[in-house]
Formats: sequence, structure tokens, C-alpha cells
Amino acid sequence: MSGNLYDRALFWFRRDLRDYDNAALYHALKSAAQVHCVFIFDREILDVLPDKRDRRVDFIWRSVTELDAALRKRGSGLMVRHAVAREEIPRLARELAVDAVFANHDYEPQALHRDADVKMQLQRAGVAFQTAKDQVIFERDEVLTQMGRPFTVFTPYKNAWLRKLDDFFLKPYPVERYQTHLAKPPKAAAVPRLQEMGFEPTNIGDLLPAGMSGAQKLFADFRNHIVDYKEARDFPAVKGVSYLSVHQRFGTVSIRELARAALAEQNPGADTWLAELIWRDFYFQILSNFPHVVDRAFQPEYDALAWENDAARFTAWCQGRTGYPIIDAAMRQINQTGYMHNRLRMIVASFLAKDLLIDWRWGEKYFADHLNDFDLAANNGGWQWAASTGCDAQPYFRIFNPVTQSEKFDPQGKFIRRYVPELARVPDRYIHAPWNLPGLDQQAAGVVIGRDYPSPIVDHTVQREKALAMYKVVKQEPAAMAAKPRG
Ligand code: FAD
Repeated sequence: MSGNLYDRALFWFRRDLRDYDNAALYHALKSAAQVHCVFIFDREILDVLPDKRDRRVDFIWRSVTELDAALRKRGSGLMVRHAVAREEIPRLARELAVDAVFANHDYEPQALHRDADVKMQLQRAGVAFQTAKDQVIFERDEVLTQMGRPFTVFTPYKNAWLRKLDDFFLKPYPVERYQTHLAKPPKAAAVPRLQEMGFEPTNIGDLLPAGMSGAQKLFADFRNHIVDYKEARDFPAVKGVSYLSVHQRFGTVSIRELARAALAEQNPGADTWLAELIWRDFYFQILSNFPHVVDRAFQPEYDALAWENDAARFTAWCQGRTGYPIIDAAMRQINQTGYMHNRLRMIVASFLAKDLLIDWRWGEKYFADHLNDFDLAANNGGWQWAASTGCDAQPYFRIFNPVTQSEKFDPQGKFIRRYVPELARVPDRYIHAPWNLPGLDQQAAGVVIGRDYPSPIVDHTVQREKALAMYKVVKQEPAAMAAKPRG
């Protein structure tokens, strides 16, 4: 035995695809004389994905390929397997005769079950399973109210988060300090091709640079205009946001690095962006403390909402054929790229729940299948916020009007014209509500509404009243069922 706690360890990469400032990788290298690294394309996740051209699998594949090259530069390399992780990790631990397996925390219910199972199998074999916080700045119950309860409202959470923050929580984990403990490169280390795993290459490479290098490129670019974030972030036609969410999702960038940089900027743009990173932590802790949100409303009384759930309307929403240009442009953006701007996510989610009167879980599932940055905590939080079933429920104030939102945030219809080319020649004045364009002008603009582009499938004014009536029923229920934290 060397001076280390362990002779050999295995580091399991998951949503932390980087070889620097990685908490559990650092702990593994510090504790063990020799550390093997593995990434598993987990068949339990991949085999159920409906689309074999899944941009996320392609993004992960590109990022893993880069990670392997980066580890090789450090004298090591990555073992990459296409297998069921809960079986493969205990098997590899045996094969490599390691004393411990290290990984970073995951917070989604399925992942928690998997990790509990892996831990049990390892324990039986006398192998330790050690995990660390890495994906967020504060997790689970690290930020609580003075009463010791989880926060359910964002602003007080944010204030407490900022009060608790100090250098300790932001410091990088210097993987390089112990990099000589990385095991020699594995023999058959090639990353399996996408096709070998039943997937096809996608257009993600044209849309978004992957891997650690991709994240650094996007972040460097964003830092050139982070100062304008507060003003620019709500306009989908403008390059005002960071586009880093998918990198945060797969850990190709360190959240500590992002938060440090935002704090160092000291300008209103960066402060606003930091608040968005705090929203992310907020929803992670909601998921950990109120796990019922996965399939139920945060506020239990909202499970009684009587949704209309019209399947044809849902299909029109999914396909971007509702007749409301801003909704259709947004839905076509997600379908073509896997990304949707935050302002648009709020508008389409509100439209689904409060104009189409469709259960927010249908939309949540659609986003989960299509978003490159799909993250259970943020997606669920965003949908429950928009459907007013979550923390801070406000149905009466938060019914977005799709026409006025469009006028405000895409004034010349630049974004609409990009994704709804049928409307490209419609004058600015009518682009948000083209059904008002007089017949002759429709001819001149090369689009007949109802033929070349749908008439609106619902009338917002009518639907708004219906939504208010629907929510009112819930409001009259006794308020005895406030959400209770786990445990
Ligand atoms: P920026 O504006 O550059 O924001 C920086 C980072 O802050 C983001 O990368 C993200 O990590 C975080 N962030 C920003 N807004 C939020 C928010 N409202 N909640 C939590 N974190 C936030 N984000 C996801 O990462 N995955 C999802 O599955 C997801 N689903 C959503 C569904 C709905 C209905 C709504 C309204 C929002 C959803 N969001 C989700 C939040 C937000 O829309 C995206 O994080 C953001 O659009 C990503 O683009 P960006 O990285 O350019 O964002």
C-alpha cells in the first residue's frame, strides 16, 4: 500500500465530462495511487430514446471523444463502454480490482435509484462508493430558511444563497495536482461509433460546439457581451444569452468557474446572469426536497385542474401550426435545433396550459424528448412556473398574451421570419397576428391565411376566460394541502 488511502480506484464520468475542476475526480486522484476512468453510454437511458437521431447522444459522443483525448494528454485515457451502467460498474470494479469507485452526485430519481443499486453491489464486494457535489454550487439542504426548511420562493432563496456564498464554495478542484495518479491508457480504448450504439449523427455539430473546448469558446464569446445580458436576454432574434445550458447539463464546463466569472464582472448584466445560475440551483433543491414534483403539481391542489387535453391542438402546438406566429416559430426552433430561447419557453408553455388548456405534463414530456439541455429539475420547474402549479403560483397575473409578447420581444418579427418562412413578406404591423392582414395584402405578401399558414386554432381572449374559470375552481378548494418537503 502506498501513502494513499486506496491502491486503485475507478472514476465514473457521468454529467461531468471534463478533466479539470471536477470534484469527485479530484477526490479520487487524491485518495488513490492509481485511478482508472470510465464513461458508460448507459443502455438503460439510451435504449428507450424514441429518436435515433438524438442530438444529445451526438453531443455526449463528441464530448466524450474530446475528453478521452484530453486524458491521453495527461498520460491516461478513458474506457468507454456501451452497457447497462448498474451492471458494468460493479463488473469493472471487480475486473480492475479497485478499492473504491468515485462519481459526482446526480439528483434525478432514476439516477438516484441506479446509484443506490450500484452502491449496494459494490459494498457487497467490499468496494467503497464515494460521491461528491459538483453540478451545483449548493445542493439539497445546504441553503435553508431560518426555520430550517427548504425555500419554496425564489427571491428569499437567492438572498440566502448569496449570503452563504464564500470562496470555499467557488474554489476549483485542482485535478492537475494529482494527475500522475491517473492510470496508464487502457488498451482497447476507442470510443464506440454512434452507429454501433444504434444512433445516427445529427446536425448538432453545425449548431453548437461540443466538449470542454466548445464550452470555453461559447463562454469567451458570451463574456464579450455579458454586460448587455440584462437588456438583451429577452429577445430571441438577438444573440443575448450564453447558450451554455447544454454544457452545464453535461458538465463540459464547471459551474464554479461560471459563477466565479460572473461575480468578478461586477456589472448589472453579469449580476442578472448569476441570478439565472441561482435559479438553476433553486430548481435542483426543489427536486431534491419535493420529489413529488416529478409527476405531480408542486401545489397538490392544482392536481385537480380539469384540463381539456385536445389531442389535435396538442399536435398543432408540437408541429408549430397553431396560427400564432411566435408560438409556431418557437416550436419549429426546438424541432429543428433542440434549443429554444428562455422567453419563448415561457410563452409556449403558458400557451399550452392556459390557451390550449392542455396538461403541462404533456408539454414537459415534449420538451424532455426534444431539448438538448433537457434537465429534469429546470424543465419541471419551468413548466410548473408557467402553468402556475409550482412554487409562487400566480395564475391570475401570469397568462401570457402571445400577440403582445411577440410585439414586445420580437418587434420586427425577425425571429418569426427565420422559422416561419411562409410569413417572411408579411409587413411588421401584421407579423404578430397575420389573420388581421386584409385579403389583398395577403396576396401581396404571398401568403393566404387558412391556406398557406393556419388561422389561429383558438381565440386568446376566449381561452383566457376559460383558463381563469378552470383555475378558479382550484382556488376555491380548501388550502389545506400545501406542499410538504420530503422526510
Ligand atoms: P442563459 O440565459 O445564458 O442562462 C444561463 C444559465 O442559467 C442557463 O444555462 C441555465 O443553466 C440557467 N438558467 C437560466 N434560466 C433558468 C431557469 N429559468 N431555470 C433554471 N435554470 C436557468 N433549462 C435547462 O437547462 N434545461 C431544461 O430542460 C429547461 N427547461 C425549461 C422549460 C421551461 C418551460 C422554461 C420556462 C425554462 C426551462 N429552462 C431549462 C430554463 C431556461 O430556459 C434555459 O436554461 C435557458 O434558456 C438556456 O439557455 P442559455 O444557456 O443560453 O441561458
